[in-house]
Amino acid sequence: MLGCGSSVGSPVLGRDIKGVHQKDWRTRSSLFVTIEEVNILIDTTPDFRQQALANNVRNIDFVLYTHSHADHTHGIDDLRIFSYIKKDKINCFANKFTIEEIKKNFSYIFNKKNISGRPRLDLREITSSFIEQGVEIVPLPIKHKNWDILGYKINNFAYITDCSFIPDETLSKIENLDLLVIDALRYSKHDAHLSVDEAILIAKKVGAKRTILTHMGSDLKYSELLGYLPKGIEPGYDGLVVNL
Ligand SMILES: [Zn+2]
Ligand SMILES: [Zn+2]
Repeated sequence: MLGCGSSVGSPVLGRDIKGVHQKDWRTRSSLFVTIEEVNILIDTTPDFRQQALANNVRNIDFVLYTHSHADHTHGIDDLRIFSYIKKDKINCFANKFTIEEIKKNFSYIFNKKNISGRPRLDLREITSSFIEQGVEIVPLPIKHKNWDILGYKINNFAYITDCSFIPDETLSKIENLDLLVIDALRYSKHDAHLSVDEAILIAKKVGAKRTILTHMGSDLKYSELLGYLPKGIEPGYDGLVVNL
């Protein structure tokens, strides 16, 4: 878990940082998944460079984008070094809308006339499950307020962030997982994100063996959540490693 913070991170800029618990220092939400020596990055947050250093990320085989919001994409330029390391373009997968937004927001990367000083990326549209470098990626369509965005399932694990609603068809794809990492912005309801209680309900409904909360706002305290959450559900923290 490279980061598990909300869009502004935690603690929020401008606030008093005295006494903030180490596990409540959260960078923006992102995951790094290694499977059979294939390294997969989910989202490039504005904190991506520091996350990659903190977690000794040495190379990236491909990237999965959940959606185009700034907190999930604005570290995209730091893929530059990883495309040098790979000596090739890095495939970046996303749905059609996310691809259009990324191309618009980072036009310098995709402008064919500009060939140096930019990451070499190949944006690829996801329409259904696919296999990349031997790893099956199952896209999980979800709602993020009025946006259609993607979560991802890889083997017996799923990642769902920035979620306000999960359609039944997607729920049926995430039953009985070994691990579910899911959005939980705050205790109270929010129109673009799941609350803590909504995340708990979904985790119970789909029968995940272990659930880890992510995209947490700064009002959610790690130590308080440990006491609040039912068995099998826990708050994430930056640098958390899970072996499956
Ligand atoms: Zn977000
Ligand atoms: Zn978002």
